[in-house]
Amino acid sequence: MTTISTLGSHCALQVLKGAKDEGFQTLLICEKKREKLYKRFSFIDELLLVDSFNDILESKCRSKLKELQSIIIPHGTLISQMSSSEIESIDIPIFGNKWILRWESDRNMKEKLMLESKLHVPKSLSNPSEINGLVIAKRHGAAGGKGYFLATNKEDYETKRDKLASQGLIKSDEDLYLQEYAFGVSAYLQYFYTPIHDKLEFFGVDRRYESDVDGIGRIPAQQQIDIDKIPSFNVIGNSPLVLRESLLDEVYSMGERFVDAAKRLVAPGMNGPFCLEGVYDENGKFTAFEFSSRIVAGTNLYVNGSPYSVFIYDEPMSMGRRIAREIKIANTKNQISKIVT
Ligand code: ATP
Repeated sequence: MTTISTLGSHCALQVLKGAKDEGFQTLLICEKKREKLYKRFSFIDELLLVDSFNDILESKCRSKLKELQSIIIPHGTLISQMSSSEIESIDIPIFGNKWILRWESDRNMKEKLMLESKLHVPKSLSNPSEINGLVIAKRHGAAGGKGYFLATNKEDYETKRDKLASQGLIKSDEDLYLQEYAFGVSAYLQYFYTPIHDKLEFFGVDRRYESDVDGIGRIPAQQQIDIDKIPSFNVIGNSPLVLRESLLDEVYSMGERFVDAAKRLVAPGMNGPFCLEGVYDENGKFTAFEFSSRIVAGTNLYVNGSPYSVFIYDEPMSMGRRIAREIKIANTKNQISKIVT
């Protein structure tokens, strides 16, 4: 009997509730400090208590996970807590494609995959001296917007870079990736691709609510200038969004191009949940500045299904449950090797 396992953070509740709804045993790899929280939920069958998530690299944890025939569902916490090499070294089956997680963490590889997908991507700059207009400086990895800043010229960039360095968030220019700022309304497009049926399902859209940038409009412009703080893009939560129906056709096309490009560049491809993240401009054109190659926290909005999942499923279908459904189908068809790495 397969056990669906994940790390205790990010979207663990959604994932394990979905797994239980599909009839699986569930296990949570849980930091001791969060035991009290996660013990509240009856759909979690077992807690594997650890001092830190990195303990799953150790043999004691791995034996337990193997004994229970675990499949690990990766999410943002796995990516932010472990290096790509560490994730790749995990010898427990990981849902989806663990090799593509490296493409998500490395900004240059990320850009390559997005360009291969023929997505409209903001131009990246290789040197601060190229800054000519509004740019965003982002730290590498899934930093969740923390320590990001905007700059309009080299001097402006250097002042802010030095400030971040003094806070210990970065060491040098190499820790920052510079990209043209994309204007528009942000939208995070959530998809699921099943290699078993070779089909793409569009699951929902969310917007991120980011501190400080989303709160800054409450402060009059004159006072904003006086604030001696670089406003950050640190994500605090997510809010729902539905798109104009006329945008949906292109939403599917972008997702399909991404799936095709991933098949070409990083075998076995973009299997399972993923997200294209960007902004829509005034003409309804989407510019993608980011992707996530695993379940995103924005799907937590739709634990009972979304305004899009209802068109595909006649039952409440969260992304977590969809993952479990895929494992169930693969088990019945004896095709598990198609959906894990
Ligand atoms: P995560 O891995 O958690 O998704 P991240 O650390 O990789 O996040 P991004 O998603 O690239 O970071 O960026 C964080 C936020 O910064 C975005 O949600 C968006 O608000 C803003 N942002 C990033 N790139 C751009 C851009 N080119 N133009 C406009 N805004 C941007």
